[in-house]
This record gives sequence, structure tokens and C-alpha cells, in this order.
Amino acid sequence: MIKDHFHTNRPTYSIEVFPPKKEADVSTIYEALDEFKFLQPDFISVTYGAGGTTVENTFAIANYIQNQCRIEALCHLTCAAIPNPLFLNNFLTNLYRNGIHNLLPLRGDQPQGMSREEFNARYYEHASDLVCDVKKAYDFCVAGACYPEVHPEAASAEEDIRNLKTKVDAGVDFLTTQLFYDNDVFYRFMERVRAVGIDVPVLAGLMPVTSYKQISNIIRLSGTKIPDAFMSDLERFRDSDADIKKVSIDFIRRQMSDLLAHGVSGIHLYSMNKVDIAKAIFD
Ligand code: FAD
Repeated sequence: MIKDHFHTNRPTYSIEVFPPKKEADVSTIYEALDEFKFLQPDFISVTYGAGGTTVENTFAIANYIQNQCRIEALCHLTCAAIPNPLFLNNFLTNLYRNGIHNLLPLRGDQPQGMSREEFNARYYEHASDLVCDVKKAYDFCVAGACYPEVHPEAASAEEDIRNLKTKVDAGVDFLTTQLFYDNDVFYRFMERVRAVGIDVPVLAGLMPVTSYKQISNIIRLSGTKIPDAFMSDLERFRDSDADIKKVSIDFIRRQMSDLLAHGVSGIHLYSMNKVDIAKAIFD
């Protein structure tokens, strides 16, 4: 289980992948995994598409990671995709019996094609509710998501941390942050986390920028702030994706060194399924 890796007195290194949206691209993720495994990450996580659109893909990819690549797989699952407890029981049983013993229960966001009423009527309201039932069902290592820049729907940073404490107390073994680019924001977050008695490992989620077009998406989806100096470098190379990638990899390497020097529990790379980027950062 992933939680066993935290007892080794060294930071963990992990990679996140997502199931390709187009059927034609499915084989590319397996090719990428065949290369990711040589980086020997402590685990590889697989996202769960909003609305459960990738239920088979997420399971198949996690199964490949665990049983073919022989690397710990962390399977994501969203409340938004669980219609009833029977679905959950089937999903967890299938994972557990295939040797996948790590789960990241999430609330998820309102999926495209699902009305607000349907989303609000979901069986599990918050990730913490799902964590409770997962823990009751099987002995999973359970991860949780957290937000150094505060979850966009939280009324305040204090309320968000109180909710995070509830989630961890429900049975979360470690946390992974939303992506961020300002380490001071992370260090201040860690002070707030530890102050309320959350003592599980917190992995820093880092994501390189690969094109100028991607920047507005990153800001829109995660609400993260990009430090001025990094932003002006990105602006300078706005017409060259190759330079954006280079500048961004340099930035993430420096960001990672600083986090490691401050004793971070682990680095979690949002790889966007790009092997060359993960290699440049983890090699
Ligand atoms: P929660 O922990 O439920 O929190 C959501 C909001 O509710 C917060 O504002 C919180 O303060 C509040 N809250 C929590 N508990 C309570 C409570 N008991 N009472 C009142 N308020 C409460 N999305 C996907 O669709 N698929 C993925 O695979 C995926 N992977 C992710 C991985 C990571 C590491 C991260 C950081 C995010 C991921 N997301 C994914 C996005 C995530 O689903 C959204 O950010 C979603 O809005 C929140 O999910 P959560 O599990 O953090 O929610």
C-alpha cells in the first residue's frame, strides 16, 4: 500500500495520468505507462472522469499499473459518479480483488450533461462521506485532495481547513494538493494544516505548463496564482511552445528542490500523460 512508502524517511515521487478521452488514443496511455515505470515512481494515480464517463478506462489503467507495471496504483473515484451503494460496493470489490488497494475518494464537480439538481442529489455529498464507507468496506489506503489556495466553494480558508480535518478524521492516510506554483502559499497552508492537528503526509502537486494556451485553462480550473516572474517568462515565449516547456520544466525543478529542502513528504507530478516532461523533472 502507498502508506507503507511514507515510513522510509525519504520523500515519495508519484505521477498522475488520465484516461484518454478519445477511444483512438487509448493505446497511447499504455505506451506512456511502459515508459513511466522506468522512472520507478512510488505510485501512479489515475483520474476518474466527471460523471463516471471513464469508469472502465480508469479501472483498466489502474489494473495495468498495478499488475503489469508492478507499481502501486492509486485509483480516483468521484461522488458525482456513484448512483447508489451497490455501485460503490461493486467498484471497490473489483479493485480490491485485483490487488488495487489505494483509493482517492473525491467529491468531483458537476459533470457536463448533468443538471445542477442531479448533481445536488448525489448519494454522497462530500468526499468525507465517501471515505467513511470506503473504510468500512475494505482496508484501502485512502488519499484525500486538499487546496493550498482554498477550495473555490469554501466560505473561508478556516472553514476549508475544518472540513479537511473532518475528511482526514474519517480515515484519510495522506493528502495530495491541488497544483500550485508559489511555495510560500504551500508553506503557509502547511502551518494551518498542522495547527488543526492534521498530521498525515501532504504531497505537493506540481504541474508544468506545456503551452501558452494551457495557462488560462490552468488558472480557470484550479484558481492557482502564477508568480509574476514565472508569468513574465511564459509571456516572453508565448509564441514558442518548445521554449514555454523548457522555462516551465526549469521552474518546476527549482520549485521541487525548494520543497525538498523544506522537507516535503512527497512530490506528485500532474504529468498530463507526457513522458518527456516527467523524465526531465524526475530523472
Ligand atoms: P470535498 O473534500 O468534498 O470538498 C469540496 C468542498 O466542500 C470544499 O469547499 C470543502 O470545504 C467543502 N466541504 C467538505 N466537507 C464538507 C462538510 N462536511 N460540510 C460542509 N462543507 C464541506 N475531479 C474529478 O472529477 N476526477 C478526478 O480524478 C479528480 N482528481 C483530483 C485529484 C486531486 C489531487 C485534486 C486536488 C482534485 C481532483 N479533482 C478530480 C477535482 C475535485 O473533484 C474538485 O476539486 C472538487 O471540487 C472537490 O473535490 P474534493 O474531493 O476535494 O471535495
